[in-house]
Parts: sequence; structure tokens; C-alpha cells
Amino acid sequence: MTTPYPHLFTPLDLGFTTLRNRILMGSMHTGLEDAGNAHNRMAAFYAARAKGGVGLIVTGGFAPNQESVVMRGAALMNNEAEATKHKVITQAVHAHGGKICLQILHTGRYAYGVQPVAPSALRAPINPAIPREMTEDDIARTIEDFAVCAAMSQLAGYDGVEIMGSEGYLINQFIARRTNQRTDRWGGAFENRIQFGLSVIRAVRERVGKNFILIFRLSMLDLVEEGSSWDEVVQLAKAVEKAGVSLINTGIGWHEARVPTIYSAVPQGAFSEVTKRLMGQVQIPLITSNRINDPETAEGILAGGHADMVSMARPFLADADFIIKAAAGRADAINTCIGCNQACLDHIFNGQLASCLVNPFACHELDMKIIPTDVPKNMAVVGAGMAGLAAATTLAQRGHKVTLFEAQHRIGGQFNYAKAIPGKEDFSATLRYFTTRLRELNINLQLGRHITADDLSSFDHVALATGVVPRTLTLPGITHTKVLSYSVLIEHPERAGKQVAIIGAGGIGFDVAELLTHGGAKGREAELDNYRKQWGIDVNYTNNRGGLVESLMPDSPREVWLLQRKSGKPGDGLAKTTGWARRLLLQKRGVHMLGGVEYLKIDDAGLHIRINHEERLLAVDNIIICAGQDSQTELVAGLIKLNRAYTLLGGADLATELDARKAIWQATEFAAKF
Ligand code: NAP
Ligand code: SF4
Repeated sequence: MTTPYPHLFTPLDLGFTTLRNRILMGSMHTGLEDAGNAHNRMAAFYAARAKGGVGLIVTGGFAPNQESVVMRGAALMNNEAEATKHKVITQAVHAHGGKICLQILHTGRYAYGVQPVAPSALRAPINPAIPREMTEDDIARTIEDFAVCAAMSQLAGYDGVEIMGSEGYLINQFIARRTNQRTDRWGGAFENRIQFGLSVIRAVRERVGKNFILIFRLSMLDLVEEGSSWDEVVQLAKAVEKAGVSLINTGIGWHEARVPTIYSAVPQGAFSEVTKRLMGQVQIPLITSNRINDPETAEGILAGGHADMVSMARPFLADADFIIKAAAGRADAINTCIGCNQACLDHIFNGQLASCLVNPFACHELDMKIIPTDVPKNMAVVGAGMAGLAAATTLAQRGHKVTLFEAQHRIGGQFNYAKAIPGKEDFSATLRYFTTRLRELNINLQLGRHITADDLSSFDHVALATGVVPRTLTLPGITHTKVLSYSVLIEHPERAGKQVAIIGAGGIGFDVAELLTHGGAKGREAELDNYRKQWGIDVNYTNNRGGLVESLMPDSPREVWLLQRKSGKPGDGLAKTTGWARRLLLQKRGVHMLGGVEYLKIDDAGLHIRINHEERLLAVDNIIICAGQDSQTELVAGLIKLNRAYTLLGGADLATELDARKAIWQATEFAAKF
């Protein structure tokens, strides 16, 4: 079979073993590692991805000793009993022709809930604990712990290990002067600072022998002050090759860096050029990573000689069958990761199991399944937003006959607004995916249909996913022509003047502020350039360390006020892993973010507010209302009258704090159990 992605599907010969394609499923902490029935659940999770065609999987990080854990109670791999438990994982992956490496992760000063250790007693900005400086004995013991961890992984049947040497974890902490102020043989000159990592590699290689994959995750762009220079990156790469590494994987940005490197606003493949700089400097294959989420981008990176392999992680949460779909030329059927972080990283930071906004089955392989129905029904789904689409496709997959009604002439509901926000363009991939699924599942899609309850009388059951309407306010002057709802503004941003006030600083208020202040040239190359400039990233390392330079903001086309009634900073309620970057971006663009605002009236002069007991006029051209939504449930009364069974889903059920994740998950769960 010919594939549209010849580079992706060229096997990679490592001498002692061959990888079936050029795609690595990158390491992700999913929380399964620490959950009940952990090993069976991990086996099911990884086996599904191996069955889906992944060439090489890297597990989430396992600690080599107690002080190196991500958080108290997190999983270790340090003895035979642990190794035995992992056999179910490796056997399940091998049964599907896949290969799997265990990631050895020593967090150093990032260890949470335990006394961290580090090269020097310097606190990380993202951890309240001050680490204890490692003694010579600590260092020797830790190197041995890495070697034991690798040996146990081999015993467990893993095909190799990945040694985490980037993202600001322990090995990286030794490498960078920022975190290593030692004066002994492990500190001082760069040659000394890399000795800890090299000693780990040599000890691991010696313990596991030649025929075992050894990946080193090397920080190619630290994005922190006093990070490595490019010459040092090259020097380290050559040294790790000599020490016995089989593959070098790219690490981008320390966890404490104030530069976003993976969420949706980071342009696709934004960092592959960094890996490309290292191509030819070493003989072993190089893997590139970060924001690669479709086969086209991945193929382009390989074809352009940027790397020998591509790593994708979250795309395999979104779709376990990504690779077999790509191989079969069915890229339009891939459920694409949209880089939102909402159900993966945000869950992990909230102590929850990771999953995926667009694929609630991820990490629930054993407890959530689509089982064909014994009693097929004639189902109506009303509303083709996220809830309606998820319900319709899951019901149809189970064997129900489904008709999907949508009043607009397009599917997607509120997602159509999201995808129009700069940096959220990937959201359109979810609509492409659902369009394909509706077709594949023969769902009767009726667009542009304003239906009544009577139109639904012949159906066995009605799923009402009619969504939300933007909330209207009762403020004096609310009907003034200056006032626009967010739905109108997003569709017609050209209607906004030079000075704009936004009422409501929730997710949509932030989206609108980003849209209104987005400056600079448009197009893929220009957006990549904008992103690098506004976050101060220099992939060419021109006279700097860590690839960090002063940020340069394109001029904002408008002056914007983002307002909320609550006291405190707007944006406090935004998601943990993306909220900080969104707040910082708007700060850089000069947006005035005000909390504790009382709205008084709107008139020709602008928006009158009271703040800190003082009245103020914001002399704005427009006021955009982003004050949440109300449920749209107008069909309910008619259905009750007809005695027709119905279920409310998504925003029609609960508009408060609704988001796409809740809508998709609630609707999928309903349809999977109906
Ligand atoms: P939201 O997050 O509930 O925010 C509504 C905003 O309006 C709040 O700032 C609220 O703050 C203000 N507000 C509420 N009632 C008001 C009233 N009567 N008068 C004046 N202000 C009022 O709603 P949203 O921004 O529309 O977002 C809807 C859902 O989509 C949310 O769950 C959100 O998380 C999700 N979403 C997520 C993202 C994302 O990137 N993850 C993006 C967009 C939307 P005060 O009450 O303090 O004024
Ligand atoms: Fe990607 Fe969002 Fe799913 Fe995470 S939750 S895997 S970022 S789509």
C-alpha cells in the first residue's frame, strides 16, 4: 500500500533493532501510574496505541528513588517486584508489534511533597521547597539508582529507557549554571557540569548491555536565563552519543520558563528548526517534538531534514489510531489534539487522571467502552454543537438510527467562535473530524432546520443539545449601538473601534481580548515569527544563552479594557497550565485588566464604571458583552406536552461554567449508556 507520508512510514534501523515507523509516542504523565489497578490500566492504554501503529512508546516518568518523585506517593521503578508488575504492560505492547521504553525521571528540585535534592540548594520558582545540596555520596548513589532502574526496566521486558535530561529536571539542573553552583568536580566548567548526566548514561549502558534502546532527552532550548549556549548543546550531544545513547530526543523549555511551548497558541512544529541545527553533528538519530499534531506537519518535518523521527504525545490521547488512519490516507478521520491542555495537563495539575477533551475514552480503556446496542432506537439529536456531535456519533456507533438537527447552516455551535480566535485555529480540526464521522456513520444531518416539538414526535427519544445564548445584561444603555455581543464581535471583528471595553473576563472575555489586540502580519510564517518575537525566543542563539532574548510585541491595533465585577486579578479562574500565559500575553499587549468593577451605564461617551469607590468613564468606541451564557431550552415545554422522552445535554442542560470538555464528556457518557 502506498502512503501519502513516505518519510513517516520508513522504518528506522537502530542496528540491533528496527522501529516500524518514525513516530515516537512521547512521555506523558497520565496519572495511571499512580492509580488503582495501575498496571492493567497502563497495559490497556499503551496496547491501544501500539495496536494503532505507534513505532515506539515512551511511558510517563518513573522515579529511580524516593527523593526523585514528581510528587509524594508517585510511582518508582527500583526493584524486581515492581519490574514484575510491569510485564503485563510490555507484553501487551509487544503483542501488537510495538516497542516501549520506560522513562527514568529524576525531578531534582522539582520534586513535590518530599525533601527535594539538587546540585545546589537553590529553590525553583515553581516549588516552595528548598532542595538539599547533593553530597558526593548522594551523587554516586543516584547514578547507581538510575542504573538499577534501567536494569529493572529491562527485566520488565521494556525495549529500552529514556533518560530525562531536559525540562529543568535533575540532570538538566546539573548541566546549567543557573542551578549548579558547585565548586567540586560536578560543577564549575561546562565539562564538569555535564559529568553527572554522562555518568548516568555510562552506568545505564554498562548495566543493560548493547542491545537496549537508550534515549536521552536533551534540552536543546532551555528558555531560561543562564541556560546552555548552542555550542554547549552540541558539545553535550556529542558527549552523550559517545557515552552510549541510541537516540537523542529534543527537550524544549524548562518547566519554570515563562514561555509557553505546547499549548494551542504555539504554532505547529515551532521548534523543529532547533533539532535541525543539530542534524549532522552526531551520527545517532534525532527526534524532534512539541506541537506536532497532524501527519502532514510530521511528514514535512522529516522531509525537510529537521529530524529523523517525530515525537507526539497528546495526539495519542486524542486518537489512539492516529497512525493507522494516516497510513491508510484517512487523515481526515483523525481526532486531532487541539493543544487545549484542558483534560490532560490541567487534570494532572489538579490531581486528576489525564484524559482528553476530544476523546473521553483516553485513559479509560478498561472502564469506558462503546458496546453495540441490543435495542436500536430511532433517535433525534437537536443541536450540532459539541454535545450534539458527541451524542450523535456515539449513539450511531452503538447502532442507533440518528437524525441530527441544526438550526444553523454549519455544525460546531460555540466551537465556531473558538476556532476564530488567533492561536485556536486547530479547533477547526475537531469540526473536520466530526464532519467525517457524521458521514462515515450515515447520520442524517439536517442543517438549517428550525424545528418544533411536533417535528420530533415520531422519534423514540430526543437528545436536546440546543446549547446556549449569550447572556444579556440589564445595564442602562445596554441597547446602545456601541454594544456588541461576543458572538457578533468574533464573526465581525472589523466592527470594533480603536478603544474597546470588554464586560466579563472569563474564558470568552480573554478570547475576545486576544482577538482584538492581535497585531502583526498574518499567515503561517508570520505567526511563527510573531510567536517567537512576543515570547523572546531565538532558535538561532544569536549572542544569548538558553535561546532567550527580549520580547518584542507587535503593536496592538486597539486599546482594550478587560473588566470583571469580582475583586482580584482577571484571569485567576483560567486553567492552570494556560492561564498564566494568557494573562502574560495580554499584559505584554498593554490590556488594562481591572477587577472589582461596578458597571453604571453606557452612553455616547462610553462605559461608566465605579472602581475603588470612584466613578470613571472609559471613553470607548465599543463595549463587548462576554458575561456568560444562559441555556437554550425552548423545545422542552413542547416535548413535555407531547409526552416525548428527552435528555438535556451540554449547555442546554447547564450553561454555568460549561465548556467543550464537559459538553463532549456528558454527551458521550449519555450515549454510551443509553
Ligand atoms: P464565564 O467563564 O462564566 O465568564 C463570564 C464572565 O462574565 C465572568 O468574568 C463574570 O465575572 C462575568 N459576568 C457574569 N455575569 C455577569 C453579569 N450579570 N454582569 C456582568 N458580568 C457578568 O463564561 P464565558 O467566558 O462565557 O465562558 C463560558 C465557558 O466556556 C466557561 O466555562 C469557560 O471556561 C469556557 N471557555 C473556555 C475557554 C478556554 O480557553 N479554556 C475559552 C472560552 C470559554 P464577574 O461576575 O466577576 O463580573
Ligand atoms: Fe490535546 Fe486538549 Fe486532548 Fe490534551 S485535552 S490531548 S491538549 S485535545
